Amino acid sequence: MNLIIFGPPGAGKGTQSNFISKKYNLFQLSTGEILREQINNKTKLGDRIAPIINSGSFVPDEIVSDLIEKAIKDEKYKGKIIFDGYPRSLTQASNLDLLLKRYEQKIDIVLKLSVSLETIIKRISERRALEKRPDDSEEIAIKRYKTYEKSTEPVIDYYKKLNLLKVIDGERSIDQINKEISDIINLI
Ligand code: AMP
Repeated sequence: MNLIIFGPPGAGKGTQSNFISKKYNLFQLSTGEILREQINNKTKLGDRIAPIINSGSFVPDEIVSDLIEKAIKDEKYKGKIIFDGYPRSLTQASNLDLLLKRYEQKIDIVLKLSVSLETIIKRISERRALEKRPDDSEEIAIKRYKTYEKSTEPVIDYYKKLNLLKVIDGERSIDQINKEISDIINLI
């Protein structure tokens, strides 16, 4: 089973994909995490993308696409990927389609965590206190939320038309969301 999880920044995507990956033995492919690792390890790529991520913009498609392809073509992850943070635009979605075809895979389910901007601002300020992510200031959080609405919502529509989408109320507690996601996955 390959799945995609969508949600605005601070929706709990990371928390939920971590939970699903452990429970169902899947590989959590979080593009944001991988990119942050590059920055923390001060690699050449990390130096290049740090200002982009810190300002809340998207890093160039070809950089993220390379990361995604590496995972998709790896036999040990075959049919076991949670895409967390990718695709974020229609261009990325068609690229993902191409890659999945090339490596004879498909998406089985798409989850969307639905959360209001008000809740996001509250959660991001809590996360900032814990994780100190430079892109978690309120101003950048709002920018990332707006970019999500503009670029990523059309992608969610695309999967809705393919009848793959399940919308989850992300305003509830972590445990309640865990349970709803498990119920959905158990039905696949
Ligand atoms: P996230 O942890 O998913 O919120 O991602 C943090 C940041 O990493 C984003 O605000 C972008 O700057 C960058 N990023 C993550 N995934 C992508 C992607 N698919 N395309 C472009 N930029 C991305």
